[in-house]
Order: sequence, then structure tokens, then C-alpha cells
Amino acid sequence: MIQNLQLYNTISRKKELFEPLNAPHVGMYVCGPTVYSDVHLGNCRTFISFDLIFRYLKFSGYKVRYVRNLTDAGHLEGDRDEGDDKFAKRAKLEQLEPMEIVQKYTLGFHDVMRMFNTLPPSIEPTATGHIIEQIEMIKTIIANGYGYEVDGTIYFDVEKYSKEYNYTVLTNRNLEDMLANTRELGGQDDKHGRLDFALWIKAKPETLMQWASPWGAGFPGWHIECSAMSAKYLGQEFDIHGGGLDLAATHHTNEIAQSEACSHHQPAKYWMHTNMLTVNGTRMSKSAGNGFLPGELFTGNHPLLKKGYSPMTVKFFMLQAHYRSTLDFSNEALEASEKGFRRLMSAISLLPKLKASEEGDFEIEQLRINCINAMNDDFNSPIVIAELFEAVRIINTVYDGGAKISSIELEKLNTLMNDFVFDVFGLKDEDSSNVELNDILDMVITLRKDAKENKDYATSDKIRIGLQEIGIQLKDSKEGTTWSKV
Ligand code: AMP
Ligand code: ZN
Repeated sequence: MIQNLQLYNTISRKKELFEPLNAPHVGMYVCGPTVYSDVHLGNCRTFISFDLIFRYLKFSGYKVRYVRNLTDAGHLEGDRDEGDDKFAKRAKLEQLEPMEIVQKYTLGFHDVMRMFNTLPPSIEPTATGHIIEQIEMIKTIIANGYGYEVDGTIYFDVEKYSKEYNYTVLTNRNLEDMLANTRELGGQDDKHGRLDFALWIKAKPETLMQWASPWGAGFPGWHIECSAMSAKYLGQEFDIHGGGLDLAATHHTNEIAQSEACSHHQPAKYWMHTNMLTVNGTRMSKSAGNGFLPGELFTGNHPLLKKGYSPMTVKFFMLQAHYRSTLDFSNEALEASEKGFRRLMSAISLLPKLKASEEGDFEIEQLRINCINAMNDDFNSPIVIAELFEAVRIINTVYDGGAKISSIELEKLNTLMNDFVFDVFGLKDEDSSNVELNDILDMVITLRKDAKENKDYATSDKIRIGLQEIGIQLKDSKEGTTWSKV
């Protein structure tokens, strides 16, 4: 078992030694997607980051139960406890049943996760499958005095709770400031305090997704599902709770309050938050219109994209940043990652061809120690990548005859690459014929460019139309010509 893992705990605002409650078992809960539309690349970054964490914990020898939920009900438009259910709205728009929406986007999410070669979680519970558990939890919150009913809707009493517990423990915000920055209650508000939030919301007759409860027909509030499902599968106290940083201030803050109001202690020992993927400095999100979809990224079919990038290129690009740093998307950065990833993969493909010598010039052990130390330092994947490129340099030098490697060290080099590139990072060699296709198309594009420069438009058109017929689309721009599969 690898020990000495330090991870950054949002709640203490520092790196801490990871000491699971019940080693070698580890319980990890991560807030999953709201399956009412396609996941964008920002969502993917969060799930890829937790995949790295899951993989490294397993690699370290822990037995991990990784629970990642699917939010398939109860998520309202905006932060206020009103408006249309996102699923109902989408169902009307697409003229489908809400559960058809859920099915469609759950399948899409799984496809994307598979393309990025992420491991499935151990349990993937849904909000709609746990209505009873949510109702039970709300009953306990009310019985403990932290919830109240107003005409079929149940609210959490933040003021009462904050008298005994620290409501802002996760973000360390000042409660007075928060109150000052929260909209005053208006005549239409039923809740007693400005920061109170809904645990259960009364259904209108036309509400598509509603369930019977002790307080009449309704549906759960935004936060209760994660408190109920984490407690059910990991216990009232478990090791790691994670999600995107944007969830800390509201969703996770309210999750802690709900769980504490039930069990009188905090649910998770370590809170981990991944930072945002940005585009030109702005957080990638659906509402900002910069949230391109993985499919668009792979084909290059988006105004922000110069060309398509393969799933492993994109994953490699993400691993080149630490999960707690923001990562800004740009074509230049992705092009650099594409080259880097190809260099890594071609070095690995040379490994079986290397010849071992009696004596060698390298010791691989230090590289392995450096990789483990980097991962133990709050999952520092960019440092690991730098170490792996040192291994790439060794492979290429030995292959070119510039140095020698002993058979023991060659074996260690093989293990190092297998462990970190494939096992911990979850990268995979993409169809090598694609690499060749890239090279061939680069050549064809150059021939077409030459033809155009010679005003031989018949040939340039013949190339473009010919490629189109076999499913390859060329895209001309100021920067040059790129291609994608149609
Ligand atoms: P949602 O489906 O909106 O609930 O989001 C699913 C997950 O993606 C949550 O953990 C969010 O925090 C995370 N997320 C949303 N936008 C981004 C982004 N731009 N970068 C990284 N993670 C994000
Ligand atoms: Zn959650």
C-alpha cells in the first residue's frame, strides 16, 4: 500500500495527510451530472479529475467505493426554489417524457465517459430512485427542529442551524455578508429566513415529475439527494466528498447542513474541489454559450475550434494542469498537447523494440519515486508528465543508439509507463491507423494547396470532392486547411 498521500481539504484550506476512516476501505462521493442535456467539456474536466483520483487511490492499494450520482429530478432553473423543473422544461421542448430525457442524456454521458476512458463508478444512484430515502431524511431534519413546512413545501432553517453549527464551514464566508448579499424576502416568499432553502417542494397540478409525501405531492429540493444517497451507500461519515468548485458555496454548504442536522456530525472528512475549465478566461458553461460538447471537439465542428482533437489528446491536455488550477482552453494549447501525446505514445511503441545491454546508463527507480511523490502531493499530474517525458528521452536515446539500458532497468521502464500512463492516467493508444491517416491527409492537403497556388482549381476541387465522398470534410480558414470526419 502506498502511504503518505497528502490531499488538499477545502474545509481546512490546507493539504492534509490522507487517513481513511476504515483503511484499506475508502468511500468517495462525487456529485454527478444533471442529465437533462449533453455534458460539456467543463463537466468532463471534473469527472476526468476524479477519475484520476479514483485510479490513483486504487493504484495505491485502497479498496474504493466510488459513488457518483445522476441528478434526474428536482433541479430547478436558477438558485431560487421556484421556476420550472429543468427536466420538465426540456421534455416540453423536445416533446418527450421526462424519463426519455433522462435516458437519452444518461446514455450520452456514459458514451462520453467511455470515450475519455474513465472508469465507471462503483455505484451510480439516481435521485428518482431514492425518493423514499430523501423523504426519510427530511422527516429527521424536521424532527430535529431544523426544518419547517409552509403549505406543502419544506424549508431548511439556516438561522436555527447556524446557532449551533458553522453554516459557512466549507467556504469560510462571513454569514453577515452573505445575508447582506442575499435578496430580501418579498411578499411572495414563504420561507422564514433569506438563506433558508427548500428540502421538498410542493407540486403544482401540472408538475410532470411528482411524488406522494407526508406533506402532499411534491418533489425533492436541489441538495437533499446527495445527502441521502451518500449516507445510504457510504454511511453518515465517510472519507471523500468531491465536485466542481462552483458547487462549494451553495450545494455542498447545504449538503453539510442537511447531513449535520440529521446525524450531528459532518458527513465527509475530506472535501475535494476541482477547478474550472475556462475559455478566454470565462468559465465554460451552457449559459455562456462557450460550452462546447465533446463531440464537437472531436470533429472540430465549432466556431471556436480550428480543427478536431482526439479524446486522448483532450484528456492529456487536462492532465497537464493540476486539478485545482483553472485550465484555459485554446487551440494552441491543444495542438501542443496533441504533439506531446503523440511523442509519448510513439516512445511507448518503441519500448518492445529496445535491446537490453549487460550494463546500462540509467536507473529508473528515481523516476518512479518522483512520480509517486508527485501523485502523493495532492495528485500533481503535471509533474508526473514531466517525469514521463524524461522516460521518453531515455527511450529515444537508447533506440537511437546514444546510450544503453540493462534488462532490469528496461523492465522497470516498461512497468513505469504501464503504471502511470495507462493505469493511473487512464490514457490509451488511439487507433494507430489514425496517426497514419493524419500524416496522409497532411500530405493531401499540401498537394491541394499547391494545386490552388498554381491556379489548378480542377485538381484542388477533385481532391476536396473526392475526400468528401469518403467521409472527410476539409475546412479552409485563414490559418490553413483542417479536416474532420463527417
Ligand atoms: P452539472 O451537470 O451542472 O450539475 O455539473 C456537473 C459537474 O460539472 C459539477 O461537479 C460541476 O461543478 C462541474 N462543472 C460545471 N462547469 C464546469 C467547468 N467549466 N469546469 C469544470 N467543472 C465544471
Ligand atoms: Zn451533489
